[in-house]
Amino acid sequence: DVTATKGNDFEDYFLKRELLMGIYEKGFERPSPIQEESIPIALTGRDILARAKNGTGKTAAFCIPALEKIDQDKNVIQVVILVPTRELALQTSQVCKELAKHLKVQVMVTTGGTSLKDDVMRLYQPVHLIAGTPGRILDLAKKGVCVLQDCSMLIMDEADKLLSPEFQPSIEQLIHFLPENRQILLFSATFPVTVKDFKDRYLRKPYIINLMDELTLKGITQYYAFLQINQSIIFCNSVNRVELLAKKITELGFSCFYIHAKMLQDHRIVYSMTSAMVHAEILSFLLPSDLFTHGIDIQAVNVVINFDFPKNSETYLHRVGRSGRFGHLGLAVNLITYEDRFNLYRIEQELGTEIKQIPSQIDQAIY
Ligand code: ADP
Ligand code: MG
Repeated sequence: DVTATKGNDFEDYFLKRELLMGIYEKGFERPSPIQEESIPIALTGRDILARAKNGTGKTAAFCIPALEKIDQDKNVIQVVILVPTRELALQTSQVCKELAKHLKVQVMVTTGGTSLKDDVMRLYQPVHLIAGTPGRILDLAKKGVCVLQDCSMLIMDEADKLLSPEFQPSIEQLIHFLPENRQILLFSATFPVTVKDFKDRYLRKPYIINLMDELTLKGITQYYAFLQINQSIIFCNSVNRVELLAKKITELGFSCFYIHAKMLQDHRIVYSMTSAMVHAEILSFLLPSDLFTHGIDIQAVNVVINFDFPKNSETYLHRVGRSGRFGHLGLAVNLITYEDRFNLYRIEQELGTEIKQIPSQIDQAIY
């Protein structure tokens, strides 16, 4: 639901009256969650990396601050919006034009497959905001007809698609036409490694917004337990207990590996639990496998154990996160192998959360 918010108003952002009129005439009464997060931060000039589901109002989340920041008296390009397709370019420029209905902002749209000559002619007229696909905008910049030296804001929508091999080289060239003090707003529904790499190279102390599935890690204490492959760490108190647990896991339809003193030492993967967990008598775990994560009633579960650490932040969030509305506390324990450590850092960073090393005692009050 795009309109479910914390109760902010568009008035709270002190936007130009003409822009506010455009917003209301478009039928937007209140900012959507992604708009609430991004508009005030974008207005401060900070870089943003935002992730939110489709249909949550990302377009206005970047168009509103872009239009607010444009100085209509300066006839130079001040904002570039990059999108991966012609349809999206047209749609985005349409939203900009509607929001800017009462402003004097000139919006231009350009994509490959249309007349370059027409674009060149159009650029003799004032343009404040240009929306289009990377290749064409780069062509125009190289020709010197699209002057970007005063363009202080670069927006990348559907950044996951934009940072494909098809567009990435053009985007990197294009960035060099922008001034040093440019602001970058990056919006995406997924967060592949290409987006992360781009963020690391071009964004400066970005504000990270992650509204994926509205799942949150707030109130969930997360630990990792480091487990070195080939080293047998047996946390259960007895062989019987290990076998019992393994049997239970198997009965539940999950595959599991286990190791204990009576077995051969050739098992290369060790799945185990800490003695602290055993002592806390919380053996009725949920044992998520990626096949099941989407259908699980996570609200009812306060302990999640990743026997296998997930490969990406999306999977992590699906297993560990829950809808924040209920404000439940929770506990997540991740068993980490040596190979998982980079994934651990990456997922922590991508989700803006902290996964601490597990202490020897876990206070039951935290979950
Ligand atoms: P996304 O890019 O996140 O997929 P869009 O920007 O295309 O989402 O917006 C999805 C729909 O929600 C559009 O029809 C848009 O007009 C509408 N919308 C966006 N923001 C608001 C709002 N604050 N209030 C009501 N509707 C909104
Ligand atoms: Mg969109």
